[in-house]
Amino acid sequence: MTKLALWDGELIPEEDLSISPFSATAAYGLNVFEGLRAYWRPEMSGHALAFAELHLQRLLESAKILGIQHPYGMRSLKEHLLALVKVAPPEDVVIRMTLMLVGSPGESWNTDVEANLAIRFFSSPSRLSERRQVSAMTSSWRRPGLSAIPMSVKSGANYLNSRYAFLQARSCGADMPLLLDDNSYVVEGAGANLVCRKDREIYFCPPELPVLRGITQDHIRSSAIACGNYSVLQRPMTLPELYICDEVLLVGTTAEVVSVVEIDGRRIGEHADASLSDFARQALREAVQSSNIVAGRTKDDV
Ligand code: PMP
Repeated sequence: MTKLALWDGELIPEEDLSISPFSATAAYGLNVFEGLRAYWRPEMSGHALAFAELHLQRLLESAKILGIQHPYGMRSLKEHLLALVKVAPPEDVVIRMTLMLVGSPGESWNTDVEANLAIRFFSSPSRLSERRQVSAMTSSWRRPGLSAIPMSVKSGANYLNSRYAFLQARSCGADMPLLLDDNSYVVEGAGANLVCRKDREIYFCPPELPVLRGITQDHIRSSAIACGNYSVLQRPMTLPELYICDEVLLVGTTAEVVSVVEIDGRRIGEHADASLSDFARQALREAVQSSNIVAGRTKDDV
């Protein structure tokens, strides 16, 4: 079956899409993007689109901060997103939406050409029912501070910093890197936020530190506050504090919830339970249950 993608609002076979290798998006990573999950719900014959408005809002904010011009607003972005979800296969998918600077070949990083909107999906089965575990190491690559580049912007070029850290972790035999900021606070993973538990206290990284303001962590945080069983704090974590936590999680749209069970060769929470992992995964499952359903294509749509 032909896999469709959306280019400036038009459904096109993905294989027919091409842009210049000399475009600003290819040469400089000059784009902003979002990754959303559409969970297939067979009983509803449709996809549950989790946190869609929050992702679209962050896309618009990233574009504004990076000075990317484009003709889209919340409403048109949502229309285009739904149009693609409708032609997605009946399985869990991640949707990638990118506002990219293409223009004429050879546009430089200082171009003010209008962005194109590309949307695609790819298969990514949810693993919310599993307690996933990884090992991590703290990277010698730091998250750049606000005086250098805003990490709250979800742009392609920002991920070069994650790549250096990831390559280093892999070469040292760890699954994932953890990144520190210039003040030696542990701020986030390469593509996920950090959530830690010590007894009944849960710690989230404050948004003014150099991190992406994650939609997944925000949902876990508000669920934890609402449930009343935890004391929920937003404060920077130091590495020694992390080593003695009962649980350290990496959370994000694609990662969902992953337990970090080893950091820098130290076992994390070896005598503790996985109550925060269980809680976070349940909170996300509930968000999926209450998300709007996008029904697949019916005969009437054709
Ligand atoms: N930090 C980074 C660097 C990320 O790439 C992601 C994934 N988007 C996250 C955190 C988690 O953000 P979210 O929960 O919105 O997906």
